[in-house]
Amino acid sequence: MHIALLSRNRNLYSTRRLVEAAEGRGHTARVVDTLRCYMSIASHHPSIHYKGEEIEPFDAVIPRIGSSVTFYGCAVLRQFEMMGTYVINDNVSITRSRDKLRSLQLLSRKGLGLPITGFAHSPDDIPDLITMVKGAPLVIKLLEGTQGIGVVLAETNQAAESVIQAFMGMKANIMVQEYIKEARGADIRCFVIGDKVVASMKRQAADGEFRSNLHRGGTASLIRITPEERSTAIRAAKAMGLRVAGVDLLRSNHGPVIMEVNSSPGLQGIESATGKDIASMIIEHIEKNAMPARKAPPKPKG
Ligand code: ADP
Repeated sequence: MHIALLSRNRNLYSTRRLVEAAEGRGHTARVVDTLRCYMSIASHHPSIHYKGEEIEPFDAVIPRIGSSVTFYGCAVLRQFEMMGTYVINDNVSITRSRDKLRSLQLLSRKGLGLPITGFAHSPDDIPDLITMVKGAPLVIKLLEGTQGIGVVLAETNQAAESVIQAFMGMKANIMVQEYIKEARGADIRCFVIGDKVVASMKRQAADGEFRSNLHRGGTASLIRITPEERSTAIRAAKAMGLRVAGVDLLRSNHGPVIMEVNSSPGLQGIESATGKDIASMIIEHIEKNAMPARKAPPKPKG
């Protein structure tokens, strides 16, 4: 197969590992810089051009779209989908996963465990919003933050009120969430491929920190997840429409609650914590599910 990796940087660990795994399994792989793809929309023959030429047909695309280029990256991915190319995660699922509130609303519809979460527009509604999530301590989150940036723990109702007011004043979209104290700064990353959790790790926040992100100094270790955690992670990825996902869970007093579902989960942390070759598992999944590339461009209808 000929596989494209939509990625801005061929030197990133995950990108390198996926290329290595594809080649190791006898395929060819090309790293395609997302922002250098441009496309012809008006034509009956949807196409993508790349650095001056029409891009060659691929059997599969692995999107690794950074959150700062979600809009353009998803447009490029959609164009590949229109051309009939198999994509491991589609543009709609990635767009959903980039909006924390939209994701939680979808997950709640499926009855999955979530921290109580509130969302409001008017500063007049802040006191009731705080009550809704059971008061301080509570967590305030920017809807589009990543890597723990924009996630704030407010210890008192007064602090919560001022921080929420400040964010609202800046027109930032935020949600307010019940603080899962009993998780004690640990979360569980479940790596889902297809309908399986292929690896999981525990991430523990650094001393004095409640955010367990590795980018915030968290440390990773092996963990055995419970059947309930396993099925929650699989159902969460499915609800989002993602074939490859990093589902983050917290262990709460009332079972696993979902923090977020990541559509471009990094491979470095999970591969080094578990010693598993996750990149090859992704390629294997593509081998089993991708259709061969269309050799001829689709004919216009009518
Ligand atoms: P990001 O997408 O920026 O990683 P998250 O919503 O995943 O943001 O939050 C980052 C980390 O902060 C989580 O992995 C978790 O350790 C901690 N955290 C977030 N929300 C809560 C909460 N409601 N209760 C306890 N800890 C939380």
